[in-house]
Amino acid sequence: MTKRVRLLYVVARDRPDLKERLTAAFLDTDNVEVIVDRRTTRTADRGSKVDRERRLMDRDSDLAALGWIPHSEAGGRLARHPPRPRRDRIPAMTSGPMHAQVLHEWGGEVRYETVARPSVVAGEVLIEVEACSVGLTVLNYMSGNHSRRPEDLPRIPGHEIVGRVIATGDGVSSPRVGERVLTHFYLFCGACDLCHLGHEPLCRNLAGQVGVARDGGYAEYVALPARNCIAVPDGVSPIAATAIPDAIATPLHVSRRAAIAPSDSVMVIGAAGGVGIHMVQMARVFGGTVIGIDRGEERLKLVREMGAVAAFDSSVPDAAQPVRHLAPRGVTVAVDLVGNPATLRFCLDALAPRGRLVVLTTFPGLATEVAPRELVARELAILGSRYASRWELGEAARLVAERRITPVVTEVVPLAEVGSLHAKLRGGRLLGRGAVVPAGAAARSPA
Ligand SMILES: [Zn+2]
Repeated sequence: MTKRVRLLYVVARDRPDLKERLTAAFLDTDNVEVIVDRRTTRTADRGSKVDRERRLMDRDSDLAALGWIPHSEAGGRLARHPPRPRRDRIPAMTSGPMHAQVLHEWGGEVRYETVARPSVVAGEVLIEVEACSVGLTVLNYMSGNHSRRPEDLPRIPGHEIVGRVIATGDGVSSPRVGERVLTHFYLFCGACDLCHLGHEPLCRNLAGQVGVARDGGYAEYVALPARNCIAVPDGVSPIAATAIPDAIATPLHVSRRAAIAPSDSVMVIGAAGGVGIHMVQMARVFGGTVIGIDRGEERLKLVREMGAVAAFDSSVPDAAQPVRHLAPRGVTVAVDLVGNPATLRFCLDALAPRGRLVVLTTFPGLATEVAPRELVARELAILGSRYASRWELGEAARLVAERRITPVVTEVVPLAEVGSLHAKLRGGRLLGRGAVVPAGAAARSPA
C-alpha cells in the first residue's frame, strides 16, 4: 500500500540538513508518494507573480532531480527547464596521454605505446585500470579468430578489467565515482528481450566484445558503458578480482547450463588453464565430483590442490583408461575447454548414459563428427555455453568474497611486459590466469 507523505518544501529548502535527511529517507523507499503542498509554498513565496512562477519552476526542477516527484507530474514547467541527469565532476586526470598495449594487426603482437586517454560520454564511465587479466581468450581475439574487421584496428585488448571509476557521463547513476568495479566482456544493449531475460551474451543488438570492438584494459584508463560495470565486493583485491569477469563467471554459467548437482561426476578438459582451474572449483561448489585432464605434473598437481579427486595427463597413450577406471559407467558431465576434434571425441566417448557435454571453446572451421545414433543410443546432450550473464558476474564475485572460490592468478607483471605472459600462454606454461598492472596502479599499491 502506498504511503502518502506531505512535504513542506519551504522547510526542506531552507534547511539543507533536513533536506538531506528527507532525501535519504525517501529516495530508497518504495511505496512512498510525496505530495508537494503548494499552499505552503505560495504562502512563503512572496513577491511578484513572475518571481513566484520562477520559484515554483526551480522548486519542481529540484524535486524532480531528487526523485521526489516524477518528471511527468511536474507538468509543462519542466519542459522548459528539464532537470539535467546527475553528472559527476570530471577530474583533471581524465585528459592527457596514457600508456597502453596496442594491437595493429590481427595475428600480431601488441606494442607498448603512448596514446590519448579515452573520454567519457553519456551512459559511460571512465575507469582507472588497477589490473587486467591475461588469458588465452585475449590471445584468441588478438589472433583474429573471432573478428578480423579492419575498422577495429588499432585496438587495445584486454577484457577482464578491474579499476576505480574516476568519472561518469550524463545519465549514469551507478556505478559512482570512486567505486571499484569489474567489467562484463560483451557490449550488450541492455534493452532487448534477451538482455531483459539476463542472457546478455545472446543480446540481439550485440556490438561485439570489450578489447575487440572497442578498447579494453591493457591500458591505464578505459571507458565503458556503465551497464558493463559490476561492483567488486569488499575484501577482494584488484588482482584476485581480474579472474572474476570471465575465468570464474564462465564456469558458473557452464555449471548452470549443465545443471551440475551432487550426484554428478564432472570431467574438465584443460583443467589447469585460466577457466579450467576455476571450473574445477565451481563444479565442486555445485556438488560435483571432479576429474581434471591436463598436461604435465605441475599442472596436474594444481588441479588436485584445487579440489579434483583425480587429475590425469592427456599426453599419455590411452589417456581415457584412467578415467574409465575411476568412473566405470562414464562421467555424467564433460566440459571441453580445449575444443579440438580430439578432445570433443574424448569427451563423447567418456560420457555415461544421459551424460551432458558442454562446449564453449570454438575455432573457425573446426568441427567434429557426431552420429545422431550415438546421441540417441545413450541419450547424450551437447550443450553450447556462451560466456556469462551480468547477474552471474555478480554471483561469481560473491563466491570469491565468501572464499568458496579461490582466484588462481599465478603471475602478475607490469603492463609494459605483457608480451612475456603471452609467450608463456602460447607455450602452455602459464598456470591459471596471469594479470598485468599499469605503472600508475603499481605505484599506488606497492603490494
Ligand atoms: Zn540486448
